[in-house]
Amino acid sequence: MRVLLVEDEVRLAELLAQSLREEGHEVNVCHDGKVAAEQAERVPYDVIVLDWALPSMDGLEVLRRLRARGLHTPVLLLSARGTVGERVQALRMGADDYVVKPVALDELSARVEALHRRASGQERVVELAGVRIDHRARSVIGASGTESFSAREYAVLSLLLDRLGDVVTRSELLSQVWGAAFDGSPNVVDVYVGYVRAKLQAVAATALVLETVRGVGYRLREARSSERARDTLPGEASATRGKRGK
Ligand code: CA
Repeated sequence: MRVLLVEDEVRLAELLAQSLREEGHEVNVCHDGKVAAEQAERVPYDVIVLDWALPSMDGLEVLRRLRARGLHTPVLLLSARGTVGERVQALRMGADDYVVKPVALDELSARVEALHRRASGQERVVELAGVRIDHRARSVIGASGTESFSAREYAVLSLLLDRLGDVVTRSELLSQVWGAAFDGSPNVVDVYVGYVRAKLQAVAATALVLETVRGVGYRLREARSSERARDTLPGEASATRGKRGK
Protein backbone atom coordinates (compact mmCIF):
# COMPACT_ATOMS: atom_id res chain seq x y z
CA MET A 1 0.00 0.00 0.00
CA ARG A 2 0.98 3.62 -0.35
CA VAL A 3 1.96 5.38 2.87
CA LEU A 4 2.76 9.03 3.56
CA LEU A 5 5.06 9.30 6.56
CA VAL A 6 5.29 12.75 8.10
CA GLU A 7 8.02 13.09 10.73
CA ASP A 8 10.45 15.95 11.13
CA GLU A 9 13.12 14.02 13.02
CA VAL A 10 15.01 12.88 9.95
CA ARG A 11 16.70 9.83 11.45
CA LEU A 12 13.50 8.58 13.04
CA ALA A 13 11.65 9.16 9.76
CA GLU A 14 14.22 7.06 7.91
CA LEU A 15 14.01 4.30 10.44
CA LEU A 16 10.20 4.17 10.28
CA ALA A 17 10.14 4.40 6.50
CA GLN A 18 12.66 1.61 6.15
CA SER A 19 10.68 -0.61 8.45
CA LEU A 20 7.47 0.00 6.48
CA ARG A 21 9.28 -0.61 3.19
CA GLU A 22 10.57 -3.92 4.48
CA GLU A 23 6.93 -4.89 4.91
CA GLY A 24 6.45 -4.18 1.21
CA HIS A 25 4.84 -0.74 1.37
CA GLU A 26 5.60 2.21 -0.83
CA VAL A 27 6.56 5.07 1.50
CA ASN A 28 6.89 8.80 0.82
CA VAL A 29 8.58 10.77 3.57
CA CYS A 30 7.82 14.37 4.43
CA HIS A 31 9.45 16.48 7.16
CA ASP A 32 7.11 19.46 7.19
CA GLY A 33 3.42 19.80 8.06
CA LYS A 34 2.35 22.18 5.35
CA VAL A 35 4.17 20.29 2.62
CA ALA A 36 2.59 17.08 3.92
CA ALA A 37 -0.94 18.53 3.76
CA GLU A 38 -0.40 19.59 0.14
CA GLN A 39 1.14 16.24 -0.74
CA ALA A 40 -1.76 14.34 0.86
CA GLU A 41 -4.26 16.30 -1.20
CA ARG A 42 -2.38 15.54 -4.39
CA VAL A 43 -1.57 11.86 -3.99
CA PRO A 44 -4.13 9.19 -3.03
CA TYR A 45 -2.41 7.54 -0.04
CA ASP A 46 -3.84 4.50 1.68
CA VAL A 47 -2.62 5.55 5.11
CA ILE A 48 -0.93 8.64 6.55
CA VAL A 49 1.41 8.33 9.53
CA LEU A 50 1.49 11.81 10.99
CA ASP A 51 3.69 13.21 13.75
CA TRP A 52 1.98 15.69 16.07
CA ALA A 53 4.82 18.19 16.59
CA LEU A 54 5.94 19.43 13.17
CA PRO A 55 7.37 22.63 11.74
CA SER A 56 5.13 25.10 9.84
CA MET A 57 1.86 23.28 10.62
CA ASP A 58 1.40 20.76 13.43
CA GLY A 59 -0.08 17.31 12.93
CA LEU A 60 -3.50 18.22 14.34
CA GLU A 61 -3.71 21.19 12.00
CA VAL A 62 -2.76 19.01 9.03
CA LEU A 63 -5.45 16.55 10.09
CA ARG A 64 -8.06 19.28 10.50
CA ARG A 65 -7.26 20.62 7.05
CA LEU A 66 -7.51 17.21 5.38
CA ARG A 67 -10.82 16.39 7.03
CA ALA A 68 -12.20 19.86 6.26
CA ARG A 69 -11.48 19.19 2.60
CA GLY A 70 -13.33 15.92 2.69
CA LEU A 71 -10.25 13.70 2.66
CA HIS A 72 -10.89 10.58 4.72
CA THR A 73 -7.53 8.88 4.29
CA PRO A 74 -6.90 6.97 7.54
CA VAL A 75 -4.46 8.84 9.76
CA LEU A 76 -2.30 7.34 12.47
CA LEU A 77 -1.07 10.10 14.73
CA LEU A 78 2.36 9.79 16.35
CA SER A 79 3.10 11.71 19.48
CA ALA A 80 5.44 11.96 22.41
CA ARG A 81 2.40 13.10 24.38
CA GLY A 82 0.40 10.26 25.74
CA THR A 83 -2.18 11.59 28.17
CA VAL A 84 -5.76 10.47 27.83
CA GLY A 85 -6.84 14.06 27.12
CA GLU A 86 -4.47 14.38 24.18
CA ARG A 87 -5.42 11.03 22.81
CA VAL A 88 -9.10 11.96 22.99
CA GLN A 89 -8.41 15.31 21.34
CA ALA A 90 -6.58 13.57 18.49
CA LEU A 91 -9.36 11.07 17.93
CA ARG A 92 -12.02 13.79 18.04
CA MET A 93 -10.09 15.68 15.41
CA GLY A 94 -10.47 12.71 13.12
CA ALA A 95 -7.35 10.63 13.74
CA ASP A 96 -8.05 6.94 13.25
CA ASP A 97 -5.33 5.68 15.54
CA TYR A 98 -2.74 7.03 17.93
CA VAL A 99 0.73 5.74 18.81
CA VAL A 100 2.85 7.16 21.61
CA LYS A 101 6.59 7.50 21.04
CA PRO A 102 8.95 5.75 21.33
CA VAL A 103 7.49 3.71 18.50
CA ALA A 104 7.89 -0.07 18.34
CA LEU A 105 8.54 -0.73 14.64
CA ASP A 106 6.54 -3.93 14.32
CA GLU A 107 3.64 -2.38 16.24
CA LEU A 108 3.60 0.54 13.82
CA SER A 109 3.46 -1.74 10.76
CA ALA A 110 0.74 -3.83 12.34
CA ARG A 111 -1.35 -0.77 13.15
CA VAL A 112 -0.87 0.76 9.71
CA GLU A 113 -2.01 -2.46 8.09
CA ALA A 114 -4.98 -2.80 10.43
CA LEU A 115 -6.03 0.77 9.62
CA HIS A 116 -5.86 0.03 5.93
CA ARG A 117 -7.93 -3.12 6.28
CA ARG A 118 -10.52 -1.30 8.31
CA ALA A 119 -10.70 1.62 5.91
CA SER A 120 -10.92 -0.44 2.73
CA GLY A 121 -13.96 -2.16 4.20
CA GLN A 122 -15.62 1.03 5.31
CA GLU A 123 -14.59 3.63 2.82
CA ARG A 124 -16.89 2.33 0.18
CA VAL A 125 -19.47 4.68 -1.10
CA VAL A 126 -22.39 2.71 -2.43
CA GLU A 127 -24.76 4.14 -5.01
CA LEU A 128 -28.29 2.96 -4.85
CA ALA A 129 -31.26 4.28 -6.78
CA GLY A 130 -29.53 7.61 -7.25
CA VAL A 131 -28.65 7.93 -3.57
CA ARG A 132 -25.07 7.70 -2.28
CA ILE A 133 -24.45 5.84 0.95
CA ASP A 134 -21.13 6.63 2.57
CA HIS A 135 -20.21 3.92 5.07
CA ARG A 136 -17.24 5.74 6.46
CA ALA A 137 -19.05 9.03 7.09
CA ARG A 138 -22.26 7.16 8.05
CA SER A 139 -24.26 9.40 5.80
CA VAL A 140 -26.80 9.24 3.01
CA ILE A 141 -26.53 11.80 0.25
CA GLY A 142 -29.63 12.40 -1.83
CA ALA A 143 -30.82 15.03 -4.25
CA SER A 144 -32.06 17.28 -1.46
CA GLY A 145 -29.03 17.04 0.84
CA THR A 146 -27.06 14.89 3.25
CA GLU A 147 -28.19 13.21 6.43
CA SER A 148 -25.69 11.87 8.96
CA PHE A 149 -26.58 8.91 11.12
CA SER A 150 -25.49 8.04 14.66
CA ALA A 151 -23.62 4.76 15.03
CA ARG A 152 -26.76 3.00 16.26
CA GLU A 153 -28.98 4.43 13.54
CA TYR A 154 -26.41 3.48 10.94
CA ALA A 155 -26.24 -0.08 12.26
CA VAL A 156 -30.03 -0.32 11.78
CA LEU A 157 -29.76 1.13 8.28
CA SER A 158 -26.85 -1.20 7.37
CA LEU A 159 -28.76 -4.29 8.34
CA LEU A 160 -31.80 -3.16 6.34
CA LEU A 161 -29.55 -2.35 3.38
CA ASP A 162 -27.81 -5.72 3.51
CA ARG A 163 -31.22 -7.30 3.20
CA LEU A 164 -32.65 -4.80 0.74
CA GLY A 165 -36.09 -5.90 -0.42
CA ASP A 166 -36.49 -8.47 2.35
CA VAL A 167 -38.24 -8.22 5.66
CA VAL A 168 -35.96 -7.95 8.68
CA THR A 169 -37.75 -8.95 11.86
CA ARG A 170 -37.73 -6.80 14.96
CA SER A 171 -35.98 -9.53 16.91
CA GLU A 172 -33.23 -9.75 14.26
CA LEU A 173 -32.71 -6.01 14.48
CA LEU A 174 -32.70 -6.18 18.26
CA SER A 175 -30.17 -9.02 18.49
CA GLN A 176 -27.86 -7.76 15.74
CA VAL A 177 -27.84 -4.08 16.58
CA TRP A 178 -28.32 -4.11 20.36
CA GLY A 179 -26.83 -7.52 21.05
CA ALA A 180 -28.20 -10.64 22.69
CA ALA A 181 -27.46 -9.25 26.16
CA PHE A 182 -29.74 -6.23 25.70
CA ASP A 183 -32.45 -6.33 28.36
CA GLY A 184 -34.30 -3.08 27.72
CA SER A 185 -37.59 -2.71 25.90
CA PRO A 186 -37.73 -4.12 22.35
CA ASN A 187 -39.65 -0.94 21.47
CA VAL A 188 -36.25 0.68 21.09
CA VAL A 189 -36.15 -0.95 17.62
CA ASP A 190 -39.27 0.90 16.53
CA VAL A 191 -37.92 4.16 17.89
CA TYR A 192 -34.66 3.82 15.95
CA VAL A 193 -36.36 2.66 12.78
CA GLY A 194 -38.44 5.83 13.14
CA TYR A 195 -35.28 7.97 13.28
CA VAL A 196 -33.80 6.21 10.26
CA ARG A 197 -37.04 6.53 8.31
CA ALA A 198 -37.29 10.26 9.02
CA LYS A 199 -33.73 10.83 7.82
CA LEU A 200 -34.24 8.75 4.68
CA GLN A 201 -37.45 10.62 3.94
CA ALA A 202 -35.60 13.90 4.23
CA VAL A 203 -32.99 13.09 1.58
CA ALA A 204 -33.98 9.90 -0.20
CA ALA A 205 -37.78 9.79 -0.24
CA THR A 206 -37.89 9.21 -3.98
CA ALA A 207 -35.25 6.47 -3.90
CA LEU A 208 -35.72 4.32 -0.81
CA VAL A 209 -38.81 3.33 1.11
CA LEU A 210 -38.68 1.92 4.64
CA GLU A 211 -41.88 -0.04 5.16
CA THR A 212 -43.41 -1.45 8.29
CA VAL A 213 -44.54 -5.03 7.78
CA ARG A 214 -47.16 -5.31 10.47
CA GLY A 215 -46.54 -7.87 13.14
CA VAL A 216 -43.24 -8.93 11.56
CA GLY A 217 -40.69 -6.19 11.14
CA TYR A 218 -39.37 -3.79 8.56
CA ARG A 219 -38.37 -3.79 4.93
CA LEU A 220 -36.19 -1.33 3.06
CA ARG A 221 -36.74 -1.32 -0.67
CA GLU A 222 -36.12 0.82 -3.70
CA ALA A 223 -38.98 3.14 -4.57
CA ARG A 224 -41.06 2.08 -7.56
CA SER A 225 -41.04 4.39 -10.54
CA SER A 226 -44.69 5.29 -9.87
CA GLU A 227 -43.77 6.30 -6.31
CA ARG A 228 -40.84 8.31 -7.56
CA ALA A 229 -42.99 10.29 -9.93
CA ARG A 230 -45.72 10.78 -7.37
CA ASP A 231 -43.32 11.72 -4.59
CA THR A 232 -41.19 14.17 -6.48
CA LEU A 233 -43.33 17.24 -5.91
CA PRO A 234 -44.30 16.74 -2.26
CA GLY A 235 -40.72 15.57 -1.50
CA GLU A 236 -39.27 18.75 -2.95
CA ALA A 237 -41.83 20.87 -1.22
CA SER A 238 -41.09 19.39 2.20
CA ALA A 239 -37.33 19.68 1.63
CA THR A 240 -37.78 23.36 0.84
CA ARG A 241 -39.89 23.90 3.92
CA GLY A 242 -37.26 22.10 6.01
CA LYS A 243 -34.49 24.39 4.74
CA ARG A 244 -36.54 27.48 5.36
CA GLY A 245 -37.27 26.30 8.89
CA LYS A 246 -33.55 26.04 9.74
CA1 CA B 1 8.25 15.95 15.72
